[in-house]
Amino acid sequence: MISKLPKWAADLTEKTGSIMFDMKILETVYISPDIKKIRFQGDISQMNFQIGYANIIRVSNTEFRNYTASYHNVRDRILDIIFHIHDNGVGSRYIDKLKPKDELRISIPRGKKMYNETIRQQFIFGDETSLGLACAILPILQKNNHQYQFYFELDDENQNVPELLGLENYTVFSKKNTFRNEQWISELPVVNTDEWDAANYILTGNAKSVQTFRKVLKGKSRSNISSQGYWLEGKKGL
Ligand SMILES: Cc1cc2nc3c(=O)[nH]c(=O)nc-3n(C[C@H](O)[C@H](O)[C@H](O)COP(=O)(O)OP(=O)(O)OC[C@H]3O[C@@H](n4cnc5c(N)ncnc54)[C@H](O)[C@@H]3O)c2cc1C
Repeated sequence: MISKLPKWAADLTEKTGSIMFDMKILETVYISPDIKKIRFQGDISQMNFQIGYANIIRVSNTEFRNYTASYHNVRDRILDIIFHIHDNGVGSRYIDKLKPKDELRISIPRGKKMYNETIRQQFIFGDETSLGLACAILPILQKNNHQYQFYFELDDENQNVPELLGLENYTVFSKKNTFRNEQWISELPVVNTDEWDAANYILTGNAKSVQTFRKVLKGKSRSNISSQGYWLEGKKGL
């Protein structure tokens, strides 16, 4: 879905009952000053949640943004999303202002399926924008007895967020350019061993980091790679 539409088309999209559903905010929590988790309640029975899919939210008269459900429960009509509040964007500012009892419409999830249950080893890389995907996939990895490992590149103030979210088997890296450096990536334990040759690689988050990581993995002949840049410096509404 395009992130920017003329107002009349955005109005029409938001009103379309088969795409967008009414939600009410039950709770908002700041996991860190710039990570906000919101619990929405509404009819999610028509929604097909898959790892890699995103829901869209209208964040201005003309703009929509993609966000990942970190948890859902059809019986209790609950949907959680973990947002990165980054100061820069119309979406970020809109989300920062949301509070309990606010009402909005959220789309059905759609996008790119990234989880392949037939592969025993699963490696997941991302940043703040990928924490929702990480929380959504963790119980699936545990239930299906996968061997799994998360790598996160996070701002310094968010280094303890994976722990606060209850994630497991993760390594946190600083954002100081490391995942832009092919040589540095190629020396990481998961890359520098043949043990992870056959793993399924799920790469999301900063588009530049995703692209560099993917290039290194391809160079090491790792063939099961699902990647999607979630945002790109200087680009609105990727
Ligand atoms: C499939 C998919 C799933 C996603 N899931 C999530 C999710 O669960 N949670 C989440 O927070 N985001 C998620 N994102 C990313 C989110 O849609 C983008 O970060 C989006 O650009 C935010 O919109 P904005 O209006 O705040 O900023 P924009 O108006 O899009 O961008 C304005 C400026 O801010 C910069 N920018 C955008 N995002 C970030 C960021 N995260 N950190 C620093 N600078 C940024 C841009 O480069 C640009 O210069 C997802 C994206 C995709 C494609």
